[in-house]
Amino acid sequence: MMNLTSLIHNLRCSLLRIESRLLQAAGLDRHLGPALAINGPSVLPQINQEPQLDEQQNPEQPPGLLDSILWMAAPKKRRTIEVNRTRRRAESKLLKVKNNIEPCPECGHLKQKHILCGFCYAKVCRETSKIRQQIQAMEGGPLRAPAVETVVVYEGETPNQGDKDKRIVEMARKRPGWFSY
Ligand SMILES: [Zn+2]
Repeated sequence: MMNLTSLIHNLRCSLLRIESRLLQAAGLDRHLGPALAINGPSVLPQINQEPQLDEQQNPEQPPGLLDSILWMAAPKKRRTIEVNRTRRRAESKLLKVKNNIEPCPECGHLKQKHILCGFCYAKVCRETSKIRQQIQAMEGGPLRAPAVETVVVYEGETPNQGDKDKRIVEMARKRPGWFSY
């Protein structure tokens, strides 16, 4: 008997549900049920009462998502292209005219007065790397360098009397004109 009673109850509930669904689908029944039900605590905290007050004060404007965003300062007006170009081409942002340029006394390239000539510096760097290659070929490594002064001797030259005890690097090429002995 109990099983039969519960079966009849379930059938009745399902029939009622189907009826209400059909009415809703047909648009005849406007009293829809709750779309979401949450099983919350029986005693609600006090915080939930403040939004209700706000909703009562502004019933036409429900709280949106953008209300909780902290808005940063933003320009109110667009700056015209004239204003922007005046700022970009201000005198403080232009390149300064240099009056301290002179030709290099060695090679003739233009350089600043207080700055080493870049052309001559690259020339010295190339010669130094060639001398280092010669030292590498002579000694086979940097750890075998003797702890004495180094003298570079080019083709057709002989070391002086005072340079006998120094490390002599012999280069198989002519001495450059700018490289004094
Ligand atoms: Zn130079």
